[in-house]
Amino acid sequence: MKIGFEVHLQLRTERKLYCDCPTNYAEVPPNTNVCPICTGMPGAKPMRPNRAAVEAAVEISLMLGCRVQTGKPLYIQRKHYDYPDLPSGYQRTSLPLALEGSLEGVRIREVHLEEDPGQYDPVSGSVDFNRSGIPLVEIVTEPDLRSPEEARRFLRSLIRVLEYTGKVRPEAGGAMRVDVNVSLEGGGRVEVKNINSVKGTYRALKFELQRQAERLRRGERVSRETRAYLESQMITVPMRTKELEEDYRYIPDPDLPPVLLEEEWVEEVRGRMVEPPHLRERRLVEKYGLPPASARVITGERELADLFERVAREVNPLFAADWFRTKLKKVLNYMGLRAGEVGFSAEQLLSLLKMVEGGRISPEQGELVLRELAREPADPEEILLRMGLLPLGRGELEELVERVMEENREAVRDYLAGREEALNFLTGRVVRASGGRANPREAVGLLREKLEELRGKGQTS
Ligand SMILES: [Zn+2]
Repeated sequence: MKIGFEVHLQLRTERKLYCDCPTNYAEVPPNTNVCPICTGMPGAKPMRPNRAAVEAAVEISLMLGCRVQTGKPLYIQRKHYDYPDLPSGYQRTSLPLALEGSLEGVRIREVHLEEDPGQYDPVSGSVDFNRSGIPLVEIVTEPDLRSPEEARRFLRSLIRVLEYTGKVRPEAGGAMRVDVNVSLEGGGRVEVKNINSVKGTYRALKFELQRQAERLRRGERVSRETRAYLESQMITVPMRTKELEEDYRYIPDPDLPPVLLEEEWVEEVRGRMVEPPHLRERRLVEKYGLPPASARVITGERELADLFERVAREVNPLFAADWFRTKLKKVLNYMGLRAGEVGFSAEQLLSLLKMVEGGRISPEQGELVLRELAREPADPEEILLRMGLLPLGRGELEELVERVMEENREAVRDYLAGREEALNFLTGRVVRASGGRANPREAVGLLREKLEELRGKGQTS
């Protein structure tokens, strides 16, 4: 199986690509963010491409290890086709801004800047042009992927790179569109369009794998074609015979001067860019000795990785990583929060981890505090107090231990007779009597101390 991608993601800019209309299309009534340019009125001339969009596309190219095409005119081309959401009859797409990158062993062929068309509703026949002209970055890979599982993993990695820049709209918001090329040995290349999620891509590929393999097994041809993915039925259906490159009649847009990327400016962008997540993941493994699975989870979001590296300076990194991968991630998922949205500070999380690491509170108590921290951020000391979990002082614990020994003489005798399990029983009593405030580790230590003291007295008397 050979799989290659064309991934489109909307760039998070305030203005559209060739006009000054705002881009918050989902928040406003249909056809309000529009002007003659983005509705393709006769005679309307586009403005120069939005610089923020160009910069975002260049930054993404650099993060993917691409060679940015500096010092030469990059024409904006018109790609012609007819569809109700495209009143001008062409979509503007740049020549590749960058070439030849790679991500996790998959070659990136090129990166383009494109504009989104409007939204056509085939049921009512109406078109909303709010989305028309929103900048898109298009990333084209070589057909280096070999299975739906590999493709899914790669797509997640690619989205992670894009999201690390903070300059794309989230995939979860449906701002992504994927076209995928898939072919089997001996069959033609099939392109599947209309996919807008990682899950959908995976399902479409599974379906195509089965469909194409079945045809080939029966000795039938798999013809070169374009298919559409139907989300509701999880199948692909024929769309139209593959349009050849010539059919789009690409021409440089005569209304727009070519984009010229200066070497110096590209280096400035490189200087500002964040560490790409795939490199950061590797570094976390090398620098802190993290298990690869933990490093993968922690680098899933930039803010999560930032938080981790902040606390890993002051607590054991392996201990912290374990907390991040299991407890913190669980709490965030449960609350439907992204790491960038949490209200607590790195210092608050750090002070909680220190309490657990130092044995002041148990991991179970720590988890309760963590949940509270995510729900209503405060100093962990305060949360302990609020939850009645403030650890017992030495004197209080001593009192409690003595009382429990007094009330459970039989267990005490058992212990003195050499039955170690009696100690667990007594510890349980102390923790219960404290309402969960006693730290079991401390309680067991103190109990043993007192019991041994008793044994010593018994021997001398
Ligand atoms: Zn406009």
